[in-house]
Amino acid sequence: MQETVYHLKTYQGHYGDKIGAKSLIKIDLARGCGFCFGVREAIKKAQKAANDYGDVQMLGDIVHNEHVVQDLAKKGIHVVENLDAVDSSRPLLLRAHGTEKAIVAAAAERNLFTIDATCPLVLDIHKEIKELEAERRTIFIIGDHDHDEVRGIQSQVDKATVLSSPKEAEAIPRLKKAGVVSQSTQAMENFTAIVAILAEKIHDLRVVNTICHPTRQNQTEIKRIAAENELVIVIGSQTSANSKRLREVAAAINPRSYQVENAAELQPQWFENVQSVGISAGASTPDSQIQELIARIRQIDEARLST
Ligand code: SF4
Repeated sequence: MQETVYHLKTYQGHYGDKIGAKSLIKIDLARGCGFCFGVREAIKKAQKAANDYGDVQMLGDIVHNEHVVQDLAKKGIHVVENLDAVDSSRPLLLRAHGTEKAIVAAAAERNLFTIDATCPLVLDIHKEIKELEAERRTIFIIGDHDHDEVRGIQSQVDKATVLSSPKEAEAIPRLKKAGVVSQSTQAMENFTAIVAILAEKIHDLRVVNTICHPTRQNQTEIKRIAAENELVIVIGSQTSANSKRLREVAAAINPRSYQVENAAELQPQWFENVQSVGISAGASTPDSQIQELIARIRQIDEARLST
């Protein structure tokens, strides 16, 4: 079976070519944008399992991107809604952002063949929250309510409260001793704003900043490309919260920031009098879509130069 290769090496960094005396638009691709290594590794494991066993099942989508989910389905990697829908003769992949403890236990009880693709950085968060519990602290998780990763983190301990905003942090009572971890993909600004409020209310507060390195890099890079380029394009599904957040951060710095779901949505008029474009992509955007976007920008640019 042919494997899809989800790697993007070709266009990292700045690219400004010349055709005759005319300069092409400089394309500045945000370092590390698109799939993080946790998702890439999970996809590799799923593809290997599909090669080895003919079929593999996942509880829920691996990323919020229909293109990727359909592509994986063609290779024998299917989404199932719950454990009751799992075919016990086929492997079950536990996704990169972790699985609730009770689900892992139930899968073991049913003797299901599981392949654990939980990202090591998510496993670190599980370890950290258990340490906070061992220290008998009241526990907070800075994250999005009802997000799979957050549910997986929360399930590691008896009790942990999710705080998604400074407003929710304002509502907690004064405490003697507490600890806090974060969902791996939280915005640093939200994390620090919530921690500042907790620090006012809690005498002994232990803060473990578990925002992962790829997320920090994406947040730094989106600000950089927005400041250094005339135009910013974020490619990602409208259902991807992370892609929307990237565009919002970019737009706060550079009003000429747009989000598209695919290359066909690019509008040639956005590029009028533009010499540099910064590109970023949500964590659920495959490299093939980023490559298509770059190719389409080149086409628009060349059409512009030839008129
Ligand atoms: S912890 Fe970071 S690297 Fe790992 S899956 Fe989540 S976003 Fe990706």
